[in-house]
Amino acid sequence: MKQSRLFTKTRKEIPADEVAKNAQLLIRAGYAYKEMAGVYAYLPLGLRVLEKIKTIVREEMDAIGGQELIMTALQRKEVWERTDRWSDEAVDVWFKSSLKAGGEIGFGWSHEEPIAEMMKGYITSYKDLPIAVYQFQTKLRNELRAKSGIMRGREFVMKDMYSFSVGEEDHTQFYNAVIEAYKRVFERLGIGADTFVTFASGGAFTKFSHEFQTITEAGEDVIYINREKGVAINAEVLSDEALAEIGVSRDELTEVKTAEVGNIFNFGRQKAEDVGLSYHAEDGSDVPVWMGSYGIGVTRLMGVVVEKFSDDRGIVWPTAIAPFAAHLVELSGNDRELKDFADGVYQGLRDRGIEVLYDDRDARAGEKFADSDLMGIPYRIIVGKRTKEEGKFEVVERATGEVMLLSEDELYEKFVTPALK
Ligand code: ATP
Ligand code: MG
Repeated sequence: MKQSRLFTKTRKEIPADEVAKNAQLLIRAGYAYKEMAGVYAYLPLGLRVLEKIKTIVREEMDAIGGQELIMTALQRKEVWERTDRWSDEAVDVWFKSSLKAGGEIGFGWSHEEPIAEMMKGYITSYKDLPIAVYQFQTKLRNELRAKSGIMRGREFVMKDMYSFSVGEEDHTQFYNAVIEAYKRVFERLGIGADTFVTFASGGAFTKFSHEFQTITEAGEDVIYINREKGVAINAEVLSDEALAEIGVSRDELTEVKTAEVGNIFNFGRQKAEDVGLSYHAEDGSDVPVWMGSYGIGVTRLMGVVVEKFSDDRGIVWPTAIAPFAAHLVELSGNDRELKDFADGVYQGLRDRGIEVLYDDRDARAGEKFADSDLMGIPYRIIVGKRTKEEGKFEVVERATGEVMLLSEDELYEKFVTPALK
């Protein structure tokens, strides 16, 4: 993509009403646009990052048998009344409206009930199970506080998956497979070492749920961890009884600030019982389905990554989710020949399937470098006088500042994806 054609421009000033670092950087660099508090649009650069996060999540959900679908944003009141979750006392984040034709509707803040309701039309016999479905959806929540930038939106993208199994054994097996799949997701996103499977408050059925908590000062949660033992517990559920169950003592724990990037729940048969979702067992009896629900905050993850991987000059994207693999910056000045040469390199990179942002603007080197640092693409390839004279490209790694001098062939070799070699 040519930067001269990119409609977003970088900004030097910090948006006055934005206190969170993640949103400040994403807005300044042209990844996001703030519509209002807690409501952000994702611009071409930001969308590329979101899609990459989604691809990683999708691959891991597909690998454990998830089937992708998309539920509706508008929801029926009756479905939530059945489980006593329609009232604002029961769920404090509802956005609701009414139909012109009459009747109230809710805006999807979660899809547990609607999806269980829908499954009544598809699950009849034990032979129909197991099923796991997931979606990427924009959830709407009337959050009271929205001061964490894109990490707490009133509108945000979540991946939510729901599992339906015949019995506890199948259910537990899938639940554990999700834990492993989630670990792979966070590993691939570059936050694996700082993300903990955390004991947290449970639901109607279990005492605990499992949260995935990532260490960051920008987080709103407090958890206690022990790295050696690989255990973590949310401050909300810290008690002697819980500690005994996990097998750690208080003095072995360290307090850290974290952001909840995922949360998984085991509903047992409770949810299906409430909703009336059952299957015919082999013996002819009707049995409520075992259910689990599994969330990942996709847009929150983008915010967490920015919080963790940035410096005083801007964002430092991990390679796996960077909007582009390389930022080609030409410093041709008035040298037409050099500009043509840079155009050729841009084409050469594109021909090899390399994702590249090409700063072809007529601007000073200092401005181009500052913008490039702010945007945080992992590698900057500089085409300048030296490139023409010595046939070498200066390639600078954003994270380390390390400089490599590469020939044109070496350059292509470095960036071409292994699958295309
Ligand atoms: P929190 O405790 O942060 O309010 P939650 O427990 O209400 O989150 P869940 O219903 O478990 O959230 O949603 C699944 C995931 O969606 C969370 O783990 C989190 O990563 C993400 N998420 C939840 N609320 C928001 C929000 N307002 N903005 C962005 N992401 C969110
Ligand atoms: Mg949660």
